Amino acid sequence: MAELTLDNVSKFFDDGGSKVVAVDDASMEIQDGEFLVLVGPSGCGKSTTLRMIAGLESVSEGEIRLGDERMDNRPPRDRNIAMVFQSYALYPHMTVRGNMRFGLEESTEMADGEIDRVVTETAEMLDIGELLDRKPGELSGGQQQRVALGRAIVRDPAVFLMDEPLSNLDAKLRSQMRTELQRLQEELGVTTVYVTHDQTEAMTMGDRIAILDDGELQQVATPLEAYHEPANQFVAGFIGEPSMNFFEMEVDDGTLVGDAFSYELSGETKAAVGDQSHVTLGIRPEDIELGGSAATHTYETTVDVVEPMGNENAVYLGFESTDSTFVATTGGMRRISSGQRISAHFPEDAIHLFDSAGEAIHN
Ligand code: ATP
Repeated sequence: MAELTLDNVSKFFDDGGSKVVAVDDASMEIQDGEFLVLVGPSGCGKSTTLRMIAGLESVSEGEIRLGDERMDNRPPRDRNIAMVFQSYALYPHMTVRGNMRFGLEESTEMADGEIDRVVTETAEMLDIGELLDRKPGELSGGQQQRVALGRAIVRDPAVFLMDEPLSNLDAKLRSQMRTELQRLQEELGVTTVYVTHDQTEAMTMGDRIAILDDGELQQVATPLEAYHEPANQFVAGFIGEPSMNFFEMEVDDGTLVGDAFSYELSGETKAAVGDQSHVTLGIRPEDIELGGSAATHTYETTVDVVEPMGNENAVYLGFESTDSTFVATTGGMRRISSGQRISAHFPEDAIHLFDSAGEAIHN
């Protein structure tokens, strides 16, 4: 069983006498064969979490288990885990074959011929069979990345750990490698924890994503759950591009009253708000309908800037009464220009509501 469990795991660093909480009481279960993406902004504790799983960093509190066996007190080589780094960490003086063989020679009793067979097979699977006698300096970034992957795969580990493995590749190669990595992981069925700060990468690759902020785990969910049912305002703002719009609203007898507009609530949303006096209303740019004539929840706005994004436009809009702006997306074919007056409809079944602590009360 390669189910990986983090049980109330924390990591504290001592930064010249002051305590840095890099990871704060994180618990999660990563299923056997699952592809879990750890995502969050810079400094939120992703790498530290991964390094604790790998054994490159000690655990300050809590436990890490693989199946039923405790891992956090074992040295890295006894964890049956392989890590792929952003920098690839290949040995420059060794050939591709040498790099791929290295881990195996160190850690297994495999016969020479058997090692050769595994290395050749893996290289072919990764489409680098022709490059086995080259040195890393003679390879492109994408090819080096494959070698780094190959080196992890030949070890046949129970868990793959990947720390931003695609971030040194250009955009096109990155998206190609994303798909390949996913396919490979599915084929091999190896439990994988993948770190990225890129929410698009997280959304497209993960079976589930774990969203971290400031050392604290915010939500562990499928990409669609995180998108449609964010646990809190941080997740709601982090997942989705352009980000969700937020408006601060006072509650007045079933109506939300903000600086720029009022929003009347009905049954379900009204019940969710209950007796709270202040909430944040969230709406995704793609859920706003421009130029329609819906009778309720429709506001007169002025187009500030139109940003073409290929197949769609991001339209930045302003209200007459305030300086606050928000963004809506529309199909790219539509003609909308700066300065134009346009109605914006915020459908009630698309809004999200958050309490004053930022927790979702309605999705
Ligand atoms: P990035 O995406 O920028 O790599 P991250 O999410 O991986 O960031 P970590 O590298 O895990 O973040 O760092 C989490 C926090 O712990 C940061 O505030 C960082 O400054 C701090 N930290 C990490 N390593 C150490 C260390 N050795 N000593 C002190 N503080 C550290």
